[in-house]
Parts: sequence; structure tokens; C-alpha cells
Amino acid sequence: MVSQIIELLKNEIPLEQECVVLAEDTVNGLVLVDIINGFCTVGAGNLAPRESNRQISEMINESARLARLFCEKNLPVMAFLDSHHPNKPEDPYPPHCIAGTDESNLVPALRWLENETNVTLRRKECFDGYIGSAEEDGSNVFVDWVKKNKIRTLLVVGICTDICVLDFVCSTMSAKNRGFLKPLENVVVYSHGCATFDVPLEVARNTKGALAHPQEFLHHMGLYMAKERGAKIANEVLFGAVEKV
Ligand SMILES: [Zn+2]
Repeated sequence: MVSQIIELLKNEIPLEQECVVLAEDTVNGLVLVDIINGFCTVGAGNLAPRESNRQISEMINESARLARLFCEKNLPVMAFLDSHHPNKPEDPYPPHCIAGTDESNLVPALRWLENETNVTLRRKECFDGYIGSAEEDGSNVFVDWVKKNKIRTLLVVGICTDICVLDFVCSTMSAKNRGFLKPLENVVVYSHGCATFDVPLEVARNTKGALAHPQEFLHHMGLYMAKERGAKIANEVLFGAVEKV
């Protein structure tokens, strides 16, 4: 039944993906959205997977592989980490990723990024990393990072495809279109580097306050909606013309 619906969805709104080649002679930046224990590590909290999940595991592996490559090339990397004040709920979700707990830290496969000089970590208290980068004085850590590094192409990976990844892409595309992010030209969302969580309808019906969240369906929709904003959706990412990443 579920797979039939997914097939129907993919027929009705087919998602064209492409192989994106990141030019070696320009600056490419990598954004990692919320690849933290509270969303990715089995049993790590209210919004963590209850059991091992193929889509989330692939997202972590692909993100770690790309992060290693970007660091080897000394290219700029920015990681958003969902981090909430314990007394400020984020509806409609239960308490999650409380600041100062391990839930709001990078997953073990990415923890090494904390020691890399080309990596900027940004703790955020909302879905959208762009909004979460705003400072009280009106400046924006993400905007400054793009400009300072003269980033022309942004590669985006992380979780959740349909929530924090999509929100960040939407804000970034609007800001780029208004000229706030020069010299940024391209925003690429790498599909195998993204994931979302799974709450099947029958589980949601038996859980007070839970929204149904079928994983494959909403992952597809998240990518599709990013494409509707003008992002490229990549199923493969290469550096230069030859080197496979
Ligand atoms: Zn949150």
C-alpha cells in the first residue's frame, strides 16, 4: 500500500535529479543541517530514530564523506546544530536537542569537525538555519560566512529534508534572489545526503499529538519543494571533471 502510494507520487510529481560537478577553480561551500544525535542516533531522545534507519544511515555516511573531502580541500563548511532552551518548546514537537546535552552535538561520525579550522558551527534555536544565524545586532553569521569566503556554490545536506533542510534552502534562495548573498550563484541539495524521519500513519494515530510522517513520501516532497525554489537536486556530486566525491 505504502509503496504503491510512493510510486503514484513519483509518477505524478517526478523529481529530475542531476549529476552536479563542483568546479575546482571556484569556492564551493558545504552546509550540514542538524546532523546531530537528537535526530540521528538511535534512542538519543524524543525525536531520534527508535531503530536503525537506512535513509538516515546513508545520509550520515554521505555527509561524512563529503565533509572529509571539503576539509581536505580546505573549503568552507558550516554546520547547524539544533539547540533549544529547556523552557522554550518548539511546537508541534516534544522537547528535543536541549542545549548542553549530547542530543544537540554532532553525530559520532562528524564529531571530528569540531577541531577543523575551516568549519563554522552554528547553534540555532529554530527550524531555519538562515533565521537561526541572525544575531541581535542585525548581522547574520551565515550571510557573513558566504560573503567572507566568496562562496559561489553551496552544497546542502542533512536532516530533515522536508523541514530544516527545506526551510534553510527556501530562505537562502529568497535572500540570494534579493542580492543579499553575493557572490552565491547555485544552491545544490544532494538527495543521498539528506534524510527525514519516519512516523507511519498507524503509529501517529496511536500517539497523542503526533503527526503522520511517512519518510519516503516527505523526503521526496522536501526535495521537490527545494527544486520549486530553484535549487538543483543532485543524485551525484563530483569535484572538477574527474574526481568522484
Ligand atoms: Zn528543534
